[in-house]
Amino acid sequence: MDEIGYNTSNAWEKTQDKEKIFSYCEDYKSFLDIGKTERECVKEIIKRAEKLGYKDLDKIIDEKLTLNAGDMVYRNIRNKAIILAVMGKKPLEDGTRMIGSHIDAPRIDIKQNPLYENTDMAFFKTHYYGGIKKYQWLAIPLSLHGVIIKKNGETVDVCIGEDENDPVFTITDLLPHLAKDQMAKKLSEAFSAEAMNALVGSMPYDDKEVKEKVKLNILSLLNEKYGITEEDFLTSELELVPAFKAKDVGFDRSMIGAYGQDDRVCAYTSMTALFGVRDPEYTSICVMTDKEEIGSVGNTGAESKILEDFLADLCYLASDNYSDIILRRCLNNSIMLSADVNAAVDPNFEGTHDKYNAAYLGRGLAILKFSGSRGKSGASDAHAELLAKIRKVFNENNVVWHTSELGAVDKGGGGTIAMYIANLGVDVVDCGVPVLSMHAPFEVTSKADVYSAYKGYKAFYENLD
Ligand code: MN
Ligand code: MN
Repeated sequence: MDEIGYNTSNAWEKTQDKEKIFSYCEDYKSFLDIGKTERECVKEIIKRAEKLGYKDLDKIIDEKLTLNAGDMVYRNIRNKAIILAVMGKKPLEDGTRMIGSHIDAPRIDIKQNPLYENTDMAFFKTHYYGGIKKYQWLAIPLSLHGVIIKKNGETVDVCIGEDENDPVFTITDLLPHLAKDQMAKKLSEAFSAEAMNALVGSMPYDDKEVKEKVKLNILSLLNEKYGITEEDFLTSELELVPAFKAKDVGFDRSMIGAYGQDDRVCAYTSMTALFGVRDPEYTSICVMTDKEEIGSVGNTGAESKILEDFLADLCYLASDNYSDIILRRCLNNSIMLSADVNAAVDPNFEGTHDKYNAAYLGRGLAILKFSGSRGKSGASDAHAELLAKIRKVFNENNVVWHTSELGAVDKGGGGTIAMYIANLGVDVVDCGVPVLSMHAPFEVTSKADVYSAYKGYKAFYENLD
C-alpha cells in the first residue's frame, strides 16, 4: 500500500515550518480585520502593492509608457475589484499564470431608504447579500462599513464598530420563551428577511412637537458627524458585517475563526504569493473579483470583461504591434487557479460529503476538479491534463494538497468564478482552502491549510511550465 496506494496527509505532520505557519497567519488575521468589505480590501491591497513598487496601470497608459519584463502593475476596478501583475520574460502570447479569487463576502446590506422608527426604537431596513443562513446573523454585534455620496458629490467613508470604543449594531432575535410558533416552522421560513432590521438607536430628540423623535435624533447625529441628510442614503452603499476580530481557535491555536475567510483567505494567500514573485518566466497575475457571492455579475464581477480588458492593455503596452490575435493567444495559453474556499468535512454533520472525495481541515490545499450541482451542471470541469501539471508542481515543491468535491452528489452544490474564466479560453481549475461554517459570520480555517495555499500558489507562479 505504501508503494502503490494513495492517501491524503495531515499538513501539520508534513511540515517543518510550524513557526512560519503561525507568524504568516498573524498578518493574515490583520488583513481580515482591515478588509471587511471589498472596498476596504482594494484599499489595503493597493497600499501594500505600492509599497513594493507596483504602479497603477491606468497611470502608465495616461503617460504613454510601455511595459517590460519585471514591471509590476495593478488596476483598481471601481474600488471593488483589483488585478495585479508582474510582467514575465516570455511574451504575453505564450500565456500567463493567474490566480483568481474574490473579495466580496456574504453580509447584510442596508437598503436605500433604511431609517424608520417603531416603538421608540430606530432601525435600518436591510437586504442580505449572498447565501446566508439568516438566523446566524441575529443577536451578534455588527459593524457598519461603506460609503455615502452626498448631494455635492463628496464621498463620506463610514466605518463604525471596529474600534474598541465604537458602538455596534445588532439584529434582534426572539426570546426562546415566546418562540413556540417560530420553533415549529421550517428553518427556511422561521426567519423573514424583511424582519431583519438592525437596531440603531432608542433616544428621543429633545423637541415636544416632532412626531418621530428617535428617528430625528439619529438623523441629527448623522448630520452632525457626516453632514448628511436622509436623502443621502439613497446614494449610499452601506454594509453590516460582524464586528468581531479574527481570532485563534483551539487550545493549540491551530485554527483561525473570522468573518469573510470565503474568499479573503485565497485573496490574501495569492496576493502574498505574488508579492514574492520577481522576474518570472510567465507574466504572473493575481485577480481579485467582486460580486462572486451573487453570481459574479456586474462590471466588477468575473463574468464581465475586466480580466480580458486588463490583459488587452498588458498586450498593448508590452508589444509594438498589438493585434487582437495576440490577446486571443494570450488567453488560450493562460492557466488560472480559481482560488476559492472548499467545504471541509464537518463531523458534526455527517452524510453531507463523500468521505473518499472530500476536502478536510488540515490536509492542505484542496483542488476541486469541478463544482456545479446534480450532474455537474454549471461546472467548468477542468481537464485531466491541467490537473497533471498542477499535481507535478505541487508535489515537486512539497505542497500538501488533496482533491475534493463540493459535498456529496445531489446534496446541493455551488459555483465559483472558474466557469467565467474558462469561457475566455483560459485553462482553469478550482484550488483553495477548506473552511468550516462557510458563509457564517465566524468561519474556521486551519493555519496549516492557509500556509499550504500560500506555498502552493507561490510554486504555481514560480515553477509551473
Ligand atoms: Mn467563495
Ligand atoms: Mn461563498
